[in-house]
Amino acid sequence: MADLNTPVRYVKGIGEKKALALGKLGVFSLYDLVSYFPRKYEDRSVYKPIALAQDGESVCLRALVADTPRLSRVRRGLELVKLRIVDESGMAELTYFNQPYVKDNLHRGESYVFFGKMEVHGSRRSMVNPIYEREGQEGGVTGRIVPIYRLCAGLSQRTLMQAVRQGLEACAGLVPEVLPESLRQRCQLVQARYAYENIHFPADFGALELARRRLIFEELFVLACALGRMRSSRVRENGLPVAAPDPEEFYASLPFRPTNAQRRAVADALADMGSGQLMNRLVQGDVGSGKTLVAAALIWAVWKSGLGSAFMAPTEILAEQHFATLSGMLSPLGLRVGRLTGAMPAKEKREVKAALKSGELDLVIGTHALLSADVEYARLGLVVTDEQHRFGVNQRSALAGKGARPHVLVMSATPIPRTLALIIYGDLDVSVIDELPPGRQKVDTFAVNESYRQRLNNFIRRLTGEGRQVFVVCPMVEDNEELPQKLKSAQEHAKELAETFPELRVACVHGKMKAKDKDAVMAAFAAGETDILVATTVIEVGVDVPNAALMIVENAERFGLSQLHQLRGRVGRGSHKSYCVLVSDAEGEDVRARLSILCKSSDGFRISEEDLRLRGPGDFFGSRQHGLPETHIADLGADTQVLQRAKQEADALLAADPELKAPEHAALRERVEKLFQAGQDSFN
Ligand code: ADP
Ligand code: MG
Repeated sequence: MADLNTPVRYVKGIGEKKALALGKLGVFSLYDLVSYFPRKYEDRSVYKPIALAQDGESVCLRALVADTPRLSRVRRGLELVKLRIVDESGMAELTYFNQPYVKDNLHRGESYVFFGKMEVHGSRRSMVNPIYEREGQEGGVTGRIVPIYRLCAGLSQRTLMQAVRQGLEACAGLVPEVLPESLRQRCQLVQARYAYENIHFPADFGALELARRRLIFEELFVLACALGRMRSSRVRENGLPVAAPDPEEFYASLPFRPTNAQRRAVADALADMGSGQLMNRLVQGDVGSGKTLVAAALIWAVWKSGLGSAFMAPTEILAEQHFATLSGMLSPLGLRVGRLTGAMPAKEKREVKAALKSGELDLVIGTHALLSADVEYARLGLVVTDEQHRFGVNQRSALAGKGARPHVLVMSATPIPRTLALIIYGDLDVSVIDELPPGRQKVDTFAVNESYRQRLNNFIRRLTGEGRQVFVVCPMVEDNEELPQKLKSAQEHAKELAETFPELRVACVHGKMKAKDKDAVMAAFAAGETDILVATTVIEVGVDVPNAALMIVENAERFGLSQLHQLRGRVGRGSHKSYCVLVSDAEGEDVRARLSILCKSSDGFRISEEDLRLRGPGDFFGSRQHGLPETHIADLGADTQVLQRAKQEADALLAADPELKAPEHAALRERVEKLFQAGQDSFN
């Protein structure tokens, strides 16, 4: 058996050039090649007599070439080859466009298999550009289910297919079996060899399904094993022990009582940090659930043990806001709080860095500037990152690497369906804040179309008349000629609103602005100096403007439900009754259905589950924000049941053989280690 790590260029039939092209698809080794699964399949397995093929039907025909193919040049750049084929049932005319060589490949009186789409006009039957080959040809592309691969320049379906076939042959069908026999039996999964062959060249659809099921399971199982091992290796890491003080002392200083969920999250984290082991905890809570308070309590506790904390926010404006909130809570208790952002004057930055180095600050709040190589921390005990999905996982670990192994708390408002959180954060401990602070009002949500524009404008007038402020979110920054649909651009819409409401102050903020200008506009809005803020989704995350009581989202169909839920979370943060209006002229049941979920529910978890169900996992996983390695065949969103089963089996296996040392786990161990290597910088 060939070594699966063999570079593809040593596989028979793959030269330097093809190897380079394959590299662009991420295929470097023999293993990569046989794991390069088809994107979809074309069913070329149905044979029909010519006379029985229906109009529009894609079929294989076994037929004889009835006359000598004729080549004609219609004009420059248009050459046609025409011929007729017959079988015992009837006749069909074939036309090939700009493939003059067909004339010499098809011979009168000889028999071939043709695959194409039949067109029927009265008694005339014809096909355009059908695929043809001799029947029974080895490596044939007709008479079977044919794989369709994702391609790149320099590769055709046919070459890729041949390469895979060569690859499978090179492993002599002996792809290592990573699933233990007993597990395969228990879960009724086919053997590796069968699966790899049939995923590429399925004997029939039944075989394809069996292959898929096995490979999805395999992929998730390996992933679950990798995460399981990662977690157990982490648990053994020592962390600075933080003597847990009684948090009541801190709670007593607050203007409100923490919710039970907040208390639980704090207690979880205190137990982690007091254990002598390193904390790696995710606090997940819907928008407005009060995650900042949890962070503050922990920063306070760490300070009580004589250690400092760093708090990292994804944007300057959020860093500023957290600085205000946290120093408001913590300075009165004696903590020295500083901030460090990219926009600060150089001199100020230098001073803060010096203070951090000498240990004169107990808490620093900032953006990714906290990660700069020249920032040193005297005694960093805790690192908090807010809205972690906005940070690359790398950045997070860079910060975590700054002190003598600080404890790590990540906070996320992206509700991830529970089934998934289990796997994705399999390497983190998770606290869920599943309760909102009391007295929170539900944000009344409406989905409307353009015909409501007048009423919506009146509503804006009424609310602003009462002194409230309004967010308007548009899907784009500026007008874009290229997009066929009429989408609202933030700039245009801001102009329109300014004309509609001459008495109101309208501002616009979007991602293309300089950070400084953006922050200035946001700050003015937060200070109540503008009435309407038109924005792109730059405001999605965390900014607190309690006086804002109306969120309008234009072209709401363009947003994911979870994203809309985040946007809606920008209002209803104060004591005023708040509203969210989703404007969409998009027709279609699915859009209506999606938006109506939002109108009915304010539970971020439920919404994300529905979103997942309706849209698939693209929203969660498209950006790879979760930091997991890319899956080849499994769909982390859709295959959740398999995922759960795979995790169960992985946990059981790791409990029996934590290091995968048993000889029968050697292949599995190798795969898990490979995944570790590949994921070293992408996994946390
Ligand atoms: P998020 O989880 O979205 O980051 P925040 O931490 O910004 O939420 O909190 C949202 C708002 O709720 C803040 O204005 C905060 O002061 C307030 N808040 C937090 N906890 C409580 C509580 N237990 N009781 C009342 N208000 C609270
Ligand atoms: Mg927050």
